[in-house]
Amino acid sequence: MQGVTLYWLRQDLRLHDNPALCAALAHNQPVIVVYVLDESADWSPGGAQKWWLHHSLSALQTGLEKLNLKLTLKRGDSSQIIEKLAQQHNVTHVHWNRCYEPQAIARDTELKQKLQTQGVTVASHNSALLHEPWEISTKDGGPYKVFTPFWRKGCLPKGAPAQPLATPAGSYKTIDITSDDLDQWQLLPTTPNWSTGFNVWQPGEVGAQQRLTDFLENGLSGYKELRNRPDLPHVSRLSAHLHFGEISVADIWHQTEAYCAAHDVSNTDKDHFFSELGWREFSYHLLYHFPTLPTENWKSTFNDYPWADDEGWLQAWQRGQTGYPIVDAAMRELWTTGWMHNRTRMVVASFLIKHLRIHWKHGTAWFWDTLLDADLANNSASWQWVAGSGADASPYFRIFNPITQGEKFDPKGDYVRQWVPELAKLPNELLHKPWEAAPIDLLQAGVKLGETYPHPIVDHQTARNAALAGYEHIKKAR
Ligand SMILES: Cc1cc2nc3c(=O)[nH]c(=O)nc-3n(C[C@H](O)[C@H](O)[C@H](O)COP(=O)(O)OP(=O)(O)OC[C@H]3O[C@@H](n4cnc5c(N)ncnc54)[C@H](O)[C@@H]3O)c2cc1C
Repeated sequence: MQGVTLYWLRQDLRLHDNPALCAALAHNQPVIVVYVLDESADWSPGGAQKWWLHHSLSALQTGLEKLNLKLTLKRGDSSQIIEKLAQQHNVTHVHWNRCYEPQAIARDTELKQKLQTQGVTVASHNSALLHEPWEISTKDGGPYKVFTPFWRKGCLPKGAPAQPLATPAGSYKTIDITSDDLDQWQLLPTTPNWSTGFNVWQPGEVGAQQRLTDFLENGLSGYKELRNRPDLPHVSRLSAHLHFGEISVADIWHQTEAYCAAHDVSNTDKDHFFSELGWREFSYHLLYHFPTLPTENWKSTFNDYPWADDEGWLQAWQRGQTGYPIVDAAMRELWTTGWMHNRTRMVVASFLIKHLRIHWKHGTAWFWDTLLDADLANNSASWQWVAGSGADASPYFRIFNPITQGEKFDPKGDYVRQWVPELAKLPNELLHKPWEAAPIDLLQAGVKLGETYPHPIVDHQTARNAALAGYEHIKKAR
């Protein structure tokens, strides 16, 4: 019986620059390409991500067919399914691209050992990061805990990543095995269908490449300054494509270098964009070395923080009904499109943790369910960064003022007007603080506070003082 190669797809839903796929095809024997939906795992895809996954797998299916390869879909315990497939089909080689979530590392390590004892050769590959988390260490050999030295001393001296691998071409041998039907997985919401606003996205590697091209041509110039403006198109919006592995970070790196070499783009903008990719690397570095990052305060002093955890306030935040226009605009953008701008992610996270004194875990959970790019490393590290409990975190006493943040980063009010249309007719100077409007201004703008738009659920100054008092409490408890 002829030997078979198995390629297990996970967060690498692409053909281009895919080391595990290339290695699997190189054996020159029939290939099984399998994706397993394993919802028993912690942090399995949230509601929004299921939508993306459906479309991404569908796009990949089309790409694989051009190589005469079939995408086999299975649902259940991933280790058991891979082991069974290996036994049933005389699999001699298994390849996968690495995942870095703690549970995935434990699962993969165990499965690798099991398969190896059964005589199967298993190889894992890096398709997701510029550098493996264990390749970057301080002089003492430990992990970095501060971003700037991590990036400047740990990553940049290693130079550019390897050139991307070409997309495989030609026709490959495969074997026909039973697959689930993607539609039967019911990943798309139906009753109600809350995903209609997601049609701004094109999941899959064609969509990822288009998004990168669009960013290089229209967003990169001015990125360093304008990336903070949620009203302007100066960020790449590549995060979900990156999370699902539809484009590699090495590919982004080299395409950006090539574009900048041929066009008039400042090094400042290019380097700043690369450093944001560096924050992603840093988050993965932290998660790898501190696997409790998604669930526990990195700084344990925060364990004693006196959270208020008010359910009504949490709901007002989730629904974009806090009475603070920049917060509400962002939360509605998230609900409608499955994505939120980085500046407003920081503002809404700060508002939840500091103004409402609601534990960051409630924020990560909501983001997990509603973000298309929900990513365990980035989400956990970022929430802890805002909370002040994380590595290299923003100090707790840095409390974003939602009024001045709105005025500074949405100066013409375009962002708020798009997502909070009931305030659209207010003049710019009142848009970020409608409670200061005179009755005549409210009347002319058709705004009835408490009816068409809520009063602020907390007073900014009172909330700020309460947050700082909580911080004093943990400082004393130390
Ligand atoms: C509270 C909070 C939660 C977040 N949750 C997530 C999450 O679940 N998934 C996620 O991918 N990002 C998360 N981020 C980081 C960041 O907001 C997004 O990566 C970014 O907004 C995505 O938009 P973009 O692709 O246009 O970014 P760009 O500005 O174009 O950056 C390019 C890429 O760099 C990476 N990146 C940029 N900023 C950061 C950052 N601060 N930390 C880590 N990586 C970064 C992303 O992969 C991004 O796609 C979170 C930030 C905050 C403050």
